[in-house]
Amino acid sequence: MTHADVKVLIIGSGPAGYTAAIYAARAGLKPVLYTGAQPGGQLTITNDVENFPGYPNGINGPEMMIDLQKQAERFGTKVNYGMITSVDFSGYPLKVTVDEKDEITAGTVIIATGATAKYLGIPSEEKFNNKGVSACAVCDGFFYRGKDVAVVGAGDSAAEEATYLANLCTKVHLIVRRDEMRASKIMQQRVLKTPNIQIHWNTETDEILGDDNGVTGVRLLNNKTGEKSIISVQGFFLAIGHQPNTGIFKKYIDMDETGYIKVVPGTTKTNVEGVFAVGDAADKVYRQAITAAGTGCMGALDAEKFLVSKEMEEVGVTIGNQ
Ligand code: NDP
Repeated sequence: MTHADVKVLIIGSGPAGYTAAIYAARAGLKPVLYTGAQPGGQLTITNDVENFPGYPNGINGPEMMIDLQKQAERFGTKVNYGMITSVDFSGYPLKVTVDEKDEITAGTVIIATGATAKYLGIPSEEKFNNKGVSACAVCDGFFYRGKDVAVVGAGDSAAEEATYLANLCTKVHLIVRRDEMRASKIMQQRVLKTPNIQIHWNTETDEILGDDNGVTGVRLLNNKTGEKSIISVQGFFLAIGHQPNTGIFKKYIDMDETGYIKVVPGTTKTNVEGVFAVGDAADKVYRQAITAAGTGCMGALDAEKFLVSKEMEEVGVTIGNQ
C-alpha cells in the first residue's frame, strides 16, 4: 500500500464516479479520477434530467455533470482527462495504464465505467438523437406525454419501457424483429394486456423520419413480407440492450455472460481485493443516475474501509476476528 501512487483511483466520470470521488475526497483520500472517452458519461447526452432528487425544476444533463465535477474537485479530487487503457490486477498494489503509456499504482480502484446503450446503427437515429430519439424511457418519456411513440426491442427492457410509456403516451408502437419476444412471460403479458400498446411483429426499423423539429414517424419494414409502412410518432425509444464498458477488466474481474461486473451482494466488492465496481458497469436492472450515485457512495466507503484494514495489516494489526 505504501508504494501506491494513489490511494483511490476512480475510473469513469458519470454520477457513480463523481459521487465516489466526493466521498473519497471528503474522507481525505485524495482520489484521482480518470474521465474516460465521454467525460460526464451518459447524462451528457440527455437534455433534461427531471428525476434526480434535489432539482425541483429539473437540470440539464451536461450542467449536472459539470456541477458534480466541481463538487468532487472542491474537496480535492484530481480529475484527469484520460483513458485507462489496461489494468494489471494480478498483484498489489493494483496497476493501471493511462492512454497506453503511463503506469499508475493504486491502493484501491473504483470501476465506474458505466454502460453504453446499443443503437441500431442507422444514420437517421444519430440525426435525431435527443430530438425524439432516446435510449431511456424513464429519463425522457415524460416529454412525450399525450403523444405517440415507438419502442424498438423485445427483451425485458423493451417490455418495461413500453408499459412505462403507455402510462404517459397516447399510443406505443412496439417494434419486434421476430415473431416472439425474449422478455419474461410476466412482462410480455403486461405488454399484451396494455390496450394502447400495438406490437408490430417481424418488423424492423427501416428509417426514422423527421424534420427540423424532430421525429415525426418511422418507416417500418416487415421482414416476412418485405412490405414497408409508415407510423406517425414523435418519440423513438431504443431498448435493444446495453453494453457495459468493462472489456479491459475481463482478465481479472468476475462478470456475467454479458459483461456486467459481479459484486458481493449488498457491497461494491469484486472478486479482486481492493477493486470495487459501482454504477451501471455492475447494474443491469436499475441503471439510473440516482442508483449509480448511490453505489458510487458505497464504493468510496468500501474503499476507505479496505484501506484502513490494509494499513492496519501493514503495521501488524488485525481487525475483528480475521
Ligand atoms: P436483451 O439483450 O435481453 O434484449 C434485447 C432485445 O433487443 C432482444 O429482444 C433483441 O431481439 C432486440 N434487439 C437486439 N438488437 C436489435 C436490433 N438491431 N433490432 C431490433 N431488435 C434488436 O436486453 P434488455 O436490455 O432487454 O435486458 C438486459 C438484461 O437485463 C436481461 O437479462 C433482462 O432480463 C434484464 N432486465 C431486467 C429487468 C427487470 O427485471 N425489471 C428490466 C430490464 C432488463 P431478439 O430477441 O430478436 O434477439
